[in-house]
Amino acid sequence: MAKSDKYGIYDLRNEFPTDDACLEYIFRVLHSERCSCGGRYKRLPERRQWQCSKCRYQIAPTAGTLFEKSATPLTKWFHALFVFSSAKSGLSGKQLERELNVTYKTAWRMLKLIRASLPNKKHRLLGDVEMDETYFGGKGNAGKNNQDLGKVMDDKSVILGAVERDGEIRAEVAPNAKAATIGQFLHTNVERVKTRLLTDESNRYDLVAKRYHRQSVNHSQQEYVRDDVHTNTIEGFWSHVKRSISGTHKAVSRRYLQSYLDGFVWHYNNRHSDRDRFSALLYGLLR
Ligand SMILES: [Zn+2]
Repeated sequence: MAKSDKYGIYDLRNEFPTDDACLEYIFRVLHSERCSCGGRYKRLPERRQWQCSKCRYQIAPTAGTLFEKSATPLTKWFHALFVFSSAKSGLSGKQLERELNVTYKTAWRMLKLIRASLPNKKHRLLGDVEMDETYFGGKGNAGKNNQDLGKVMDDKSVILGAVERDGEIRAEVAPNAKAATIGQFLHTNVERVKTRLLTDESNRYDLVAKRYHRQSVNHSQQEYVRDDVHTNTIEGFWSHVKRSISGTHKAVSRRYLQSYLDGFVWHYNNRHSDRDRFSALLYGLLR
Protein backbone atom coordinates (compact mmCIF):
# COMPACT_ATOMS: atom_id res chain seq x y z
CA MET A 1 0.00 0.00 0.00
CA ALA A 2 1.08 3.60 -0.58
CA LYS A 3 2.84 5.41 2.26
CA SER A 4 0.57 8.44 2.79
CA ASP A 5 -2.96 8.54 4.19
CA LYS A 6 -4.37 9.41 0.79
CA TYR A 7 -4.99 6.58 -1.57
CA GLY A 8 -6.28 7.49 -5.03
CA ILE A 9 -6.98 5.75 -8.30
CA TYR A 10 -3.41 6.55 -9.39
CA ASP A 11 -2.02 4.67 -6.38
CA LEU A 12 -4.32 1.76 -7.12
CA ARG A 13 -3.17 1.53 -10.77
CA ASN A 14 0.43 1.77 -9.67
CA GLU A 15 0.14 -0.93 -7.07
CA PHE A 16 -2.16 -3.30 -8.92
CA PRO A 17 -1.51 -2.71 -12.63
CA THR A 18 -2.33 -6.25 -13.74
CA ASP A 19 -4.29 -9.32 -12.72
CA ASP A 20 -0.96 -10.94 -11.85
CA ALA A 21 -0.17 -8.18 -9.37
CA CYS A 22 -3.58 -8.67 -7.72
CA LEU A 23 -3.07 -12.42 -7.58
CA GLU A 24 0.39 -12.04 -6.00
CA TYR A 25 -1.16 -9.79 -3.36
CA ILE A 26 -3.88 -12.33 -2.58
CA PHE A 27 -1.29 -15.08 -2.27
CA ARG A 28 0.83 -12.98 0.12
CA VAL A 29 -2.15 -12.13 2.34
CA LEU A 30 -3.48 -15.67 2.57
CA HIS A 31 -0.44 -17.92 2.36
CA SER A 32 3.16 -18.23 3.38
CA GLU A 33 5.92 -18.90 0.86
CA ARG A 34 7.19 -21.65 3.15
CA CYS A 35 5.43 -24.99 2.93
CA SER A 36 5.10 -27.06 6.10
CA CYS A 37 7.26 -29.73 4.40
CA GLY A 38 10.20 -27.32 4.28
CA GLY A 39 9.84 -26.49 0.58
CA ARG A 40 8.97 -23.13 -0.96
CA TYR A 41 5.96 -22.14 -3.00
CA LYS A 42 6.66 -20.76 -6.47
CA ARG A 43 4.19 -19.46 -9.00
CA LEU A 44 3.59 -21.87 -11.91
CA PRO A 45 4.33 -20.08 -15.17
CA GLU A 46 1.23 -18.96 -17.09
CA ARG A 47 -1.07 -20.28 -14.40
CA ARG A 48 -3.02 -18.87 -11.46
CA GLN A 49 -1.43 -21.43 -9.12
CA TRP A 50 1.53 -21.81 -6.82
CA GLN A 51 3.35 -25.08 -6.27
CA CYS A 52 5.63 -26.32 -3.48
CA SER A 53 9.18 -27.03 -4.69
CA LYS A 54 9.43 -30.21 -2.61
CA CYS A 55 6.05 -31.89 -2.04
CA ARG A 56 4.44 -30.38 -5.18
CA TYR A 57 1.32 -29.34 -3.31
CA GLN A 58 -0.61 -26.68 -5.27
CA ILE A 59 -2.43 -23.59 -4.08
CA ALA A 60 -4.93 -21.47 -6.04
CA PRO A 61 -4.93 -18.17 -4.08
CA THR A 62 -8.48 -17.16 -5.04
CA ALA A 63 -9.99 -20.45 -3.79
CA GLY A 64 -12.54 -19.74 -1.08
CA THR A 65 -12.51 -15.96 -1.71
CA LEU A 66 -15.29 -13.91 -3.29
CA PHE A 67 -13.22 -13.79 -6.49
CA GLU A 68 -13.15 -17.55 -6.88
CA LYS A 69 -16.06 -18.16 -9.22
CA SER A 70 -16.04 -14.79 -10.93
CA ALA A 71 -15.17 -14.30 -14.60
CA THR A 72 -14.51 -10.62 -13.90
CA PRO A 73 -10.77 -9.75 -13.99
CA LEU A 74 -9.15 -9.14 -10.60
CA THR A 75 -8.11 -5.62 -11.63
CA LYS A 76 -11.81 -4.76 -12.02
CA TRP A 77 -12.59 -6.35 -8.67
CA PHE A 78 -9.83 -4.33 -6.99
CA HIS A 79 -11.10 -1.23 -8.77
CA ALA A 80 -14.64 -1.97 -7.49
CA LEU A 81 -13.32 -2.37 -3.93
CA PHE A 82 -11.44 0.89 -4.28
CA VAL A 83 -14.55 2.76 -5.51
CA PHE A 84 -16.68 1.21 -2.79
CA SER A 85 -14.17 2.11 -0.10
CA SER A 86 -14.04 5.73 -1.33
CA ALA A 87 -17.81 6.22 -1.66
CA LYS A 88 -18.85 7.54 1.73
CA SER A 89 -22.37 8.25 0.52
CA GLY A 90 -22.79 4.77 -0.88
CA LEU A 91 -22.41 3.39 -4.37
CA SER A 92 -25.13 2.31 -6.77
CA GLY A 93 -24.97 -0.44 -9.37
CA LYS A 94 -25.38 2.22 -12.08
CA GLN A 95 -22.34 4.14 -10.85
CA LEU A 96 -20.21 1.02 -10.67
CA GLU A 97 -21.36 -0.07 -14.14
CA ARG A 98 -20.04 3.21 -15.60
CA GLU A 99 -16.88 3.20 -13.51
CA LEU A 100 -15.79 -0.34 -14.46
CA ASN A 101 -17.33 -0.56 -17.90
CA VAL A 102 -19.13 -3.82 -17.09
CA THR A 103 -22.81 -4.70 -17.47
CA TYR A 104 -25.28 -3.48 -14.88
CA LYS A 105 -25.95 -7.07 -13.86
CA THR A 106 -22.26 -7.71 -13.20
CA ALA A 107 -21.88 -4.44 -11.28
CA TRP A 108 -24.93 -5.19 -9.16
CA ARG A 109 -23.69 -8.70 -8.35
CA MET A 110 -20.23 -7.42 -7.42
CA LEU A 111 -21.75 -4.85 -5.06
CA LYS A 112 -23.99 -7.43 -3.48
CA LEU A 113 -21.01 -9.72 -2.84
CA ILE A 114 -18.88 -6.92 -1.45
CA ARG A 115 -21.62 -5.82 0.97
CA ALA A 116 -22.28 -9.40 2.05
CA SER A 117 -18.58 -9.95 2.80
CA LEU A 118 -17.93 -6.69 4.66
CA PRO A 119 -15.66 -7.33 7.62
CA ASN A 120 -17.90 -5.59 10.19
CA LYS A 121 -16.83 -5.95 13.78
CA LYS A 122 -19.11 -7.35 16.44
CA HIS A 123 -17.55 -6.62 19.82
CA ARG A 124 -19.64 -4.65 22.31
CA LEU A 125 -19.39 -0.89 22.54
CA LEU A 126 -18.47 0.88 25.78
CA GLY A 127 -17.73 4.28 27.27
CA ASP A 128 -20.11 7.08 26.34
CA VAL A 129 -22.58 5.29 24.08
CA GLU A 130 -25.53 7.00 22.38
CA MET A 131 -28.45 4.84 21.40
CA ASP A 132 -31.47 5.73 19.28
CA GLU A 133 -33.95 4.37 16.77
CA THR A 134 -35.14 5.75 13.46
CA TYR A 135 -37.80 4.97 10.88
CA PHE A 136 -36.94 4.51 7.29
CA GLY A 137 -38.75 4.33 3.95
CA GLY A 138 -42.43 3.74 3.31
CA LYS A 139 -44.75 6.09 1.54
CA GLY A 140 -48.06 7.71 2.18
CA ASN A 141 -49.55 10.35 4.36
CA ALA A 142 -50.89 9.97 7.86
CA GLY A 143 -53.79 12.31 7.06
CA LYS A 144 -54.94 15.55 8.63
CA ASN A 145 -55.66 14.07 12.03
CA ASN A 146 -53.08 11.26 11.89
CA GLN A 147 -55.94 8.82 11.29
CA ASP A 148 -53.73 6.75 8.93
CA LEU A 149 -50.61 6.97 11.07
CA GLY A 150 -50.67 3.27 11.95
CA LYS A 151 -50.74 2.25 8.29
CA VAL A 152 -47.95 4.64 7.34
CA MET A 153 -45.75 3.46 10.20
CA ASP A 154 -46.31 -0.21 9.28
CA ASP A 155 -44.74 0.52 5.89
CA LYS A 156 -41.61 1.87 7.47
CA SER A 157 -38.58 -0.08 8.63
CA VAL A 158 -37.23 0.41 12.12
CA ILE A 159 -33.48 0.81 12.51
CA LEU A 160 -31.79 0.60 15.90
CA GLY A 161 -28.33 1.99 16.45
CA ALA A 162 -25.68 2.64 19.08
CA VAL A 163 -22.48 4.65 18.75
CA GLU A 164 -19.47 5.29 20.93
CA ARG A 165 -18.51 8.95 21.03
CA ASP A 166 -15.36 9.12 18.85
CA GLY A 167 -15.59 5.35 18.34
CA GLU A 168 -17.52 2.70 16.51
CA ILE A 169 -21.11 2.27 15.50
CA ARG A 170 -23.56 -0.65 15.32
CA ALA A 171 -26.89 -0.52 13.46
CA GLU A 172 -29.55 -3.06 12.64
CA VAL A 173 -32.88 -3.27 10.89
CA ALA A 174 -35.31 -4.42 13.61
CA PRO A 175 -38.75 -6.03 13.39
CA ASN A 176 -40.23 -3.24 15.58
CA ALA A 177 -39.29 -0.66 18.19
CA LYS A 178 -40.80 -2.42 21.19
CA ALA A 179 -38.97 -2.42 24.50
CA ALA A 180 -38.01 -6.11 24.23
CA THR A 181 -36.46 -5.55 20.77
CA ILE A 182 -34.57 -2.50 22.00
CA GLY A 183 -33.37 -4.51 24.99
CA GLN A 184 -32.08 -7.32 22.85
CA PHE A 185 -30.12 -4.94 20.61
CA LEU A 186 -28.76 -3.13 23.65
CA HIS A 187 -27.57 -6.26 25.43
CA THR A 188 -25.98 -7.68 22.27
CA ASN A 189 -24.17 -4.51 21.30
CA VAL A 190 -23.39 -2.47 24.40
CA GLU A 191 -21.36 -3.41 27.48
CA ARG A 192 -23.14 -2.76 30.75
CA VAL A 193 -20.15 -1.96 32.95
CA LYS A 194 -17.91 0.94 31.88
CA THR A 195 -20.76 2.42 29.84
CA ARG A 196 -22.76 5.60 30.21
CA LEU A 197 -25.80 5.07 28.03
CA LEU A 198 -27.20 8.23 26.43
CA THR A 199 -30.72 8.13 25.02
CA ASP A 200 -33.84 10.20 24.62
CA GLU A 201 -36.46 10.06 27.35
CA SER A 202 -38.38 7.12 25.81
CA ASN A 203 -39.84 4.92 28.54
CA ARG A 204 -39.10 1.86 26.41
CA TYR A 205 -35.59 1.96 27.90
CA ASP A 206 -36.76 2.07 31.49
CA LEU A 207 -36.92 -1.64 32.11
CA VAL A 208 -34.44 -3.04 29.59
CA ALA A 209 -31.70 -0.52 30.46
CA LYS A 210 -32.34 -0.67 34.18
CA ARG A 211 -28.92 -2.12 34.94
CA TYR A 212 -27.11 0.43 32.76
CA HIS A 213 -25.92 3.83 33.89
CA ARG A 214 -28.32 5.80 31.69
CA GLN A 215 -28.81 9.50 31.14
CA SER A 216 -31.44 10.94 28.83
CA VAL A 217 -32.60 14.19 27.26
CA ASN A 218 -36.27 15.03 26.97
CA HIS A 219 -36.90 15.71 23.28
CA SER A 220 -40.62 16.22 23.83
CA GLN A 221 -39.74 19.06 26.22
CA GLN A 222 -37.53 20.58 23.49
CA GLU A 223 -34.47 19.50 25.40
CA TYR A 224 -31.79 18.29 22.99
CA VAL A 225 -28.57 18.82 24.89
CA ARG A 226 -27.97 19.01 28.64
CA ASP A 227 -24.28 19.37 29.48
CA ASP A 228 -22.83 16.54 27.42
CA VAL A 229 -26.01 14.47 27.47
CA HIS A 230 -27.28 14.24 23.90
CA THR A 231 -27.79 11.84 21.01
CA ASN A 232 -26.43 14.11 18.26
CA THR A 233 -23.82 11.61 17.04
CA ILE A 234 -26.26 8.84 16.26
CA GLU A 235 -28.81 11.30 14.85
CA GLY A 236 -26.08 12.66 12.58
CA PHE A 237 -25.46 9.14 11.33
CA TRP A 238 -29.19 8.62 10.64
CA SER A 239 -29.39 11.76 8.56
CA HIS A 240 -26.21 10.83 6.66
CA VAL A 241 -27.70 7.41 5.81
CA LYS A 242 -31.05 8.89 4.74
CA ARG A 243 -29.49 11.65 2.66
CA SER A 244 -27.08 9.21 1.03
CA ILE A 245 -29.74 6.66 0.17
CA SER A 246 -32.06 9.21 -1.36
CA GLY A 247 -29.15 10.79 -3.24
CA THR A 248 -27.39 7.65 -4.45
CA HIS A 249 -29.89 4.86 -4.50
CA LYS A 250 -33.21 6.78 -4.71
CA ALA A 251 -34.91 3.96 -2.83
CA VAL A 252 -33.87 0.75 -1.11
CA SER A 253 -36.25 -2.13 -0.58
CA ARG A 254 -36.70 -3.54 2.90
CA ARG A 255 -35.06 -6.76 1.77
CA TYR A 256 -31.73 -5.06 1.05
CA LEU A 257 -31.83 -2.38 3.72
CA GLN A 258 -29.60 -4.28 6.18
CA SER A 259 -26.86 -4.86 3.62
CA TYR A 260 -26.86 -1.15 2.63
CA LEU A 261 -26.79 -0.26 6.30
CA ASP A 262 -23.79 -2.58 6.78
CA GLY A 263 -22.02 -0.54 4.10
CA PHE A 264 -22.62 2.73 5.96
CA VAL A 265 -21.62 1.15 9.28
CA TRP A 266 -18.41 -0.15 7.72
CA HIS A 267 -17.58 3.26 6.28
CA TYR A 268 -18.24 4.94 9.60
CA ASN A 269 -16.03 2.51 11.50
CA ASN A 270 -13.24 2.92 8.94
CA ARG A 271 -13.58 6.68 8.48
CA HIS A 272 -10.10 7.81 9.50
CA SER A 273 -7.98 7.31 6.39
CA ASP A 274 -8.54 6.50 2.71
CA ARG A 275 -5.54 4.25 2.59
CA ASP A 276 -6.50 2.29 5.68
CA ARG A 277 -10.06 1.95 4.46
CA PHE A 278 -9.05 0.38 1.16
CA SER A 279 -6.50 -1.98 2.71
CA ALA A 280 -8.88 -2.88 5.52
CA LEU A 281 -11.56 -3.78 3.00
CA LEU A 282 -9.27 -5.78 0.77
CA TYR A 283 -7.58 -7.52 3.67
CA GLY A 284 -10.82 -8.09 5.57
CA LEU A 285 -12.57 -9.61 2.57
CA LEU A 286 -9.71 -12.03 2.04
CA ARG A 287 -9.37 -13.26 5.63
ZN1 LIG B 1 5.60 -28.79 0.46
